[in-house]
Amino acid sequence: MAGETTWLTRRMATATRSAERASGAKRPQSAIARSESSRDAVIDHGSSHSRGSVLVVEDELDIQELLSHTLTREGYRVTCCGRGEHALEQVDSNPPDLVLLDLMLPGIDGMDVCRRLKSNPETSTIPVIMLTARGEEADIVAGLEIGADDYMSKPFATRTMLARVKAVLRRHQRQKSAHDSDEDDARPIQVGPLVIRPDRHETRLDGEPIELTATEFRLITLLARKPGRVFTRQQIIVSIHGDHVAVTDRSVDVQILHLRRKLGQRSDLIEAVRGVGYRCRED
Ligand code: CA
Repeated sequence: MAGETTWLTRRMATATRSAERASGAKRPQSAIARSESSRDAVIDHGSSHSRGSVLVVEDELDIQELLSHTLTREGYRVTCCGRGEHALEQVDSNPPDLVLLDLMLPGIDGMDVCRRLKSNPETSTIPVIMLTARGEEADIVAGLEIGADDYMSKPFATRTMLARVKAVLRRHQRQKSAHDSDEDDARPIQVGPLVIRPDRHETRLDGEPIELTATEFRLITLLARKPGRVFTRQQIIVSIHGDHVAVTDRSVDVQILHLRRKLGQRSDLIEAVRGVGYRCRED
């Protein structure tokens, strides 16, 4: 484990240096505020071309710098910190548009930070992407169940990271506007060839109606409302059957199997994420 961390750090540090060489520029320090011990990090709210603000919570400095450098170059406003309690202070004083949250942190760990953010109505809607060590499926499942919006396993490519950040922010924006207009139920949900009318209990695929059971309809509506988001089996059970019904994980797999069968050629719209759960493909 220690060996893997060293390798990761070295690899990410090398990537940072080559990114700097490639850009031929010094890191734009003015846009990067590091809050190691205080809550006074400066965020440039005045930047009109910003794509949003991201709080990077990562105690390994090389990875923190790589994330910060990459995001800043893409036009995000970035603030960094390396401890859980500083992350909570930062969110409190300068709520970001998104949090990139490492789980293994000194002080309050990442899982606890996520739990606190998601259980506080003031911060619960801020999207959180967890950074996890490879193969920690149990952590991923636990994090998603307390409300994390997505996860990435280290080591990851910076391109993948940027794509995830963009996707989560876009999804969040869409949900916000759906919520604002307050017609969630009347609004058709469309993912590629799939169109769901929640108000009419109607599902069409390539324009053709498909017959779904009530459970299958709830299942596909749940997944299609948040394309790209992974739902754990437990989240699916609670959302479809309620909290106090004894339904096994296996029964979720069976329902997914039936649903995918009815989607026929388009069954790839529903993806299994090994060891974690299911998601609707993002179109
Ligand atoms: Ca860490």
